[in-house]
Amino acid sequence: MPLRLYNTLSQQVEDFSPARDNTVRMYTCGPTVYHYAHIGNFRTFTFVDILRKTLRANGFQLDHVMNITDVDDKIIRNAAAEHKDLKDYTAVYTQAFLDDCSALRLERPEHLVPATEHIDDMADAIARLTAGDHTYSSDGSVYFRIGTFPGYGKLSHNDFSGNIAGARVDLDEYEKADARDFALWKAPKEGEKYWETAIGPGRPGWHIECSVMAIKYLGETLDIHAGGIDLVFPHHENEIAQSESLTGKPFSRFWLHAEFLMVEGQKMSKSLGNYFTLRDVLEKGHAPEAIRYLLASVPYRKSLNFTFDGLKSAATAIDRLRNFKLRLETDRFPEGSNDQLIARTRAAEQAFAASLNDDLNTAEALAAVFEYVRDVNTAMDSGEFRSGNGAAALAFLERFDSIFDVLKPTAQAGQLSDAAVEALVKERDAAKKAKNFARADQIRKELLDQGIVLEDTKSGVRWKRK
Ligand code: AMP
Ligand code: ZN
Repeated sequence: MPLRLYNTLSQQVEDFSPARDNTVRMYTCGPTVYHYAHIGNFRTFTFVDILRKTLRANGFQLDHVMNITDVDDKIIRNAAAEHKDLKDYTAVYTQAFLDDCSALRLERPEHLVPATEHIDDMADAIARLTAGDHTYSSDGSVYFRIGTFPGYGKLSHNDFSGNIAGARVDLDEYEKADARDFALWKAPKEGEKYWETAIGPGRPGWHIECSVMAIKYLGETLDIHAGGIDLVFPHHENEIAQSESLTGKPFSRFWLHAEFLMVEGQKMSKSLGNYFTLRDVLEKGHAPEAIRYLLASVPYRKSLNFTFDGLKSAATAIDRLRNFKLRLETDRFPEGSNDQLIARTRAAEQAFAASLNDDLNTAEALAAVFEYVRDVNTAMDSGEFRSGNGAAALAFLERFDSIFDVLKPTAQAGQLSDAAVEALVKERDAAKKAKNFARADQIRKELLDQGIVLEDTKSGVRWKRK
């Protein structure tokens, strides 16, 4: 089954493959680094990670750009309030974002690009838009004139031809000819950071940053552009207007948008104050992989209600899979190979891949895994599972983990390494054989204190982290 993705532009699920060679040219909108990102933001970034891994599982290569918005009104305001230089202020939250991404096992895009390193490129693009009569200036600021772009509204499927009531108006404190027009370039204000450029002093608006960096690194037409659903309008609509006015070509073939992480029926957001940063949740003792699992478990086009019970269920689901893997690795099974189980494993693999290719239906992909685990556990209990079936079952789990990436526990600071645990388990074994039960018990207790549980089974000792 080919990979199929819902395209916000066409409002259809379409077959996906890259336009040129085998490489997917993809741009995703990154964080505004004025604060720690919340787990709602990370729902969108986790969706992007699942998308990356599914594209790769389909044999495609990736050329993926994500921006870091390191200049905007909020950043300027917060940095000033803390009497900090803009760069020093954003460096802290950029690093925090990268650390959080690592904790959630989100792959680094091929290019991670800060807006402030591309100011001249943006000034140049604005100059070209001005040459094409798409802009006007007022008090040193430059605006995009929406009236010059007839396709405006094609992504959000808004009809802007007549009444524009309901359109969200940018909150910029600048004069505009039409409420839909937006600032490409903002004139310097007293005491605010600005850049000297070929179009004069000032700083870029948010929308131009994404258009310029996407085209610079990926070319005039992208295969995929993605972000959260709140970016469809006006951000992505404005990106299309600028980019297509610059190049005359379609800006992106596919547009993908993730629905919100919700809290009690409302979008998780900074402004509502109903948010948890990743750090908040980790400090409560939850494992990063449980958060990753929870965020990935609901298909991206459905909103996901965040609860701590949901997080506990995610941790339980991961435990079940880890126990299953441990059993496959350590139990002794009768010799031979069971043909029915070979077919069962193949069917599970196909269902898993087909679900992901069906517009990233992660819920169905997980259902395929858990039905398989249940059937194989039953087959193990009844002796039908044979040693020859083990490798394929483990390979399927590995395939699952190449997308969901939750099986390996996150090491805690000061935690014993796997090798150190193995060494103690061996020492305990030797102590038992030498009838030194006091030492054997002491080792069991030491390991338990470190959160490691030993189980004596008929095929030997197995251990796991609690
Ligand atoms: P920002 O840092 O505000 O630019 O947002 C970064 C990303 O998080 C964008 O793609 C937003 O659309 C997305 N986002 C913001 N709030 C949520 C939420 N509650 N659920 C899912 N995605 C969100
Ligand atoms: Zn963007």
